[in-house]
Amino acid sequence: MFRRLRRIVGGKGRGLLVAAAITLGLVAVAASQAAPVAAELLRVRLGGDATQTRIVVDLNHAATGKVISDGAADRRIVLMLQGASTEGVQGAGSGLVKAWVADQEGGGVRLRIDLAGDGRIKRRFLLPPADGVAHYRYVIDVAPLDPSEVRLTKASASAAKERAPLPLKKVVVIDAGHGGSDPGAHGARSVEKDINLAAAKMLKAKLERSGRYKVVMTRQADVYVPLEDRVRVAQRADADLFISLHSDSAAETELRGASVYTLSDKAFSRATRFVKADDWFMRASLTSDPGVSDILFDLTQRATKNRSATFAETLVAKLDGRTPLLRRSHRSAGFMVLLAPDVPAVLLEMGFISNAEDEQRLSDADQREQLMDGVAAAIDEHFAQLNKLASR
Ligand SMILES: [Zn+2]
Repeated sequence: MFRRLRRIVGGKGRGLLVAAAITLGLVAVAASQAAPVAAELLRVRLGGDATQTRIVVDLNHAATGKVISDGAADRRIVLMLQGASTEGVQGAGSGLVKAWVADQEGGGVRLRIDLAGDGRIKRRFLLPPADGVAHYRYVIDVAPLDPSEVRLTKASASAAKERAPLPLKKVVVIDAGHGGSDPGAHGARSVEKDINLAAAKMLKAKLERSGRYKVVMTRQADVYVPLEDRVRVAQRADADLFISLHSDSAAETELRGASVYTLSDKAFSRATRFVKADDWFMRASLTSDPGVSDILFDLTQRATKNRSATFAETLVAKLDGRTPLLRRSHRSAGFMVLLAPDVPAVLLEMGFISNAEDEQRLSDADQREQLMDGVAAAIDEHFAQLNKLASR
């Protein structure tokens, strides 16, 4: 029963857990009446255009907003949603909004919005659930400054142009291989799914500590997650990088060392078939002309494949010296999990669980730490190189 519940949660999200909790009549409902409930930020939506842009923050409970900066002085809106919570979300803008970031800060959510031009908050209000919408909406309307106001704030606005843009965190999806009813490979003393998850959690903590990354996990516990769901997590998270962690096994117990895999040419046609069957991608594609979208899709894949291969080489280089490597340690394979077409993706086999030395290394927290230091260093270098290319 427990596992069944967890599996549902892994596949379909928190809504079902809430539904299950209500069905089971858990005491949490009674407890929530005693203390004020934190409003969880569900998502942020943008609408409108350059004459007026509307930002809608979906919340599961009411929250009050406090303006720290209305945008007029330096083209950046800062608003605290008191009593609200978030895991940290961000996105590119539209209309008057260039980019936005929502972070947890103290007892609330700090929403920062960079404006594309001179503008300010025109109005903001909280809408309770109504008209078929089940949650609260905190609405912020942004409008251009009046011409008279532009003159008044001209000096500060020009200062704003020199301000560093909102630093959007890179989104890294970490996929701990296997889980739940799928244990993966078996070693003499350990099971692959546990080693993969321990490594994934360690890497997550490392990346988050740097402050540069937003990390999304395909699983956080010992649960079964279908491969297609893992790929979709990467796509929906708008991931900049996808890394899948596994532990190898072989009948030849002397075989040892880490290796890195990227998508092979052969798997390409399979990727195309898989993704085209996915409604979500079709809806998100730029054009409905099948010929044109095929070309765009192909180009996206090629660019992504190159970036995957580049990252794989960086990863091998950073692991070298920190952990034994399998000969020809960068390989191509048709792993289903690498099929997200627009996200650079690699699969790291951290070592052979079937080899006594490797199993010992993978089971030891200090040695695992060393390995994950290498992975984190490779991720840092990957994005540093991309930034260098972008600023040329
Ligand atoms: Zn595996």
